[in-house]
Amino acid sequence: MLDILQYLPVKRKSSPSGWISFNAVCCSHNGHNVDRRQRGGIKIQDSNWSYHCFNCGYTASFQLGRSVSYKARRLLSWLGVNDQDIEALTIESLRHRNIHGILDDRRRVAETLQGIDFEERDLPPAAELITPEHGKFWQYARERCVPLDFPLMTQIRTDSQRWVRSSVIVPFTYDNKLVGWTARFIDGKQPKFISDSQPGYVFGIDQQHNNWQHVLVMEGIFDALCIGGLAVMHNDISDAQARLIRNLGREITVVPDQDQAGLNLVDRAIELGWAVSIPAWEDCKDVNDAVKKYGRLGTLLTIMQSRETSRIKIELRKKQIVKKIS
Ligand SMILES: [Zn+2]
Repeated sequence: MLDILQYLPVKRKSSPSGWISFNAVCCSHNGHNVDRRQRGGIKIQDSNWSYHCFNCGYTASFQLGRSVSYKARRLLSWLGVNDQDIEALTIESLRHRNIHGILDDRRRVAETLQGIDFEERDLPPAAELITPEHGKFWQYARERCVPLDFPLMTQIRTDSQRWVRSSVIVPFTYDNKLVGWTARFIDGKQPKFISDSQPGYVFGIDQQHNNWQHVLVMEGIFDALCIGGLAVMHNDISDAQARLIRNLGREITVVPDQDQAGLNLVDRAIELGWAVSIPAWEDCKDVNDAVKKYGRLGTLLTIMQSRETSRIKIELRKKQIVKKIS
């Protein structure tokens, strides 16, 4: 099996979250200046890898069991892998095609047929990965229980950019392609968020594992991040979002925020025929609060235990919560 690590530039550094950064090899091929600030990043897990360039925005990924994409081929050739070795990788990968890979491919075909696709977008200027050296940003990510392997970013202020506010940037990916982002400001001022998001986008699809049978749907991005769920980013679910979620082929459970606005999501879930879970947490408004208090596993257990599929039971549970919070 091709070991991509051997082809990376010698000058490189590793972050605690598992990203290896080095001078990107893509930019000059895409009409950008050559990278000298180590803005190319790769994350390798077993035989799988995913590459992001924070200079020209090029992305590519490889998954064992899938054919080698055009973008991955280009990247490999820029890294100096010869054509025969790329061919050998394709054959080796297809030898590992399993049922999950086949189902996943089928989902992709279905999405293409239904016109579900998102265009590539750029990150805000001067965005870079958050590492422990970033102090308060790193701290914020840990407080919100964001998994260490998620590529959270921040925008680094330069002299010409004095307007840049302190923010934690969450890249939106779809099929390992950058399709938007949101910046969560941590300076206490309004607005709390600015985003570049496309209609119908659901955050967290790329974080779903192939073999998971369930998927949790909630409103907030940090809620989704800390528990491995999906975020619809409003207290409603659009038809396009519903299609995307349904296409995953999982048991769907909506976990609303436990406040007046959040409960709108319950009505929509009933309409869609999806299960709802409103666990009896103490002093927790949402999943993120619960994960801070009970841990990820504890929270997951309470969510699964409180999962209701019957419309009547869901309505009852909603009434109890309305009483509690009013
Ligand atoms: Zn590049």
